[in-house]
Amino acid sequence: LLKEYNEKFNITAITDDIEIVKKHFIDSLMGNSLLEGESLIDIGSGGGFPAIPIKITNPNLKVTLLEATEKKCSFLRIVIEKLNLKNINVVNGRAEELAKNLNYREKFDMCSARAVARLNTLSEYCMPFVKKGGYFISFKGDFEEELREASTAISVLGGKLKSVKAFELFDFKRGIIKIEKIKNTPNQYPRGRGKERKNPL
Ligand code: SAM
Repeated sequence: LLKEYNEKFNITAITDDIEIVKKHFIDSLMGNSLLEGESLIDIGSGGGFPAIPIKITNPNLKVTLLEATEKKCSFLRIVIEKLNLKNINVVNGRAEELAKNLNYREKFDMCSARAVARLNTLSEYCMPFVKKGGYFISFKGDFEEELREASTAISVLGGKLKSVKAFELFDFKRGIIKIEKIKNTPNQYPRGRGKERKNPL
């Protein structure tokens, strides 16, 4: 489906079969061992990574895909229909806006994201969705500097670093950062109006 719809929906620059399997599917599935809980929201899903492979391999998980671009949301809806996936929905919107909606704020056991923003900015997008006791799971490449840079953001938003799963995936350095939510996120976050990006915590 990714290959079939790529031209129309502009989903990924990776078009070789083997590269798609390695860089999209296997990379996404590396997060499986870190999952805890029943519900997950994926921020900036794009073509559905990491959340679609996670959903396929964890069929009982309730999954929400949040994506800012409507065109990509159309592709995600096609995938869900064609694969007949249940308990999964697509929301077209921006994290910093949806996180203010009380139907979504602190409602998920887990929030995942891959290739959306640097960890300090991303924490402000993602942490508000996670219930106290839940986890923010961030799929990264070279993560050390980002992790250092995000330490204030993580604690201000109610998080604590739980673990880092570092590995090499076909010669690429990867790291999956798991942050536990130990306190509620203060109401003023996310700040909105691009402040998460322009002036990260
Ligand atoms: N997560 C996918 C992956 O790893 O292949 C897509 C990564 S793509 C580089 C980033 C995606 O995040 C884009 O589809 C973009 O529209 C979406 N995005 C960026 N900022 C966002 C935000 N604040 N709220 C929701 N989606 C966002």
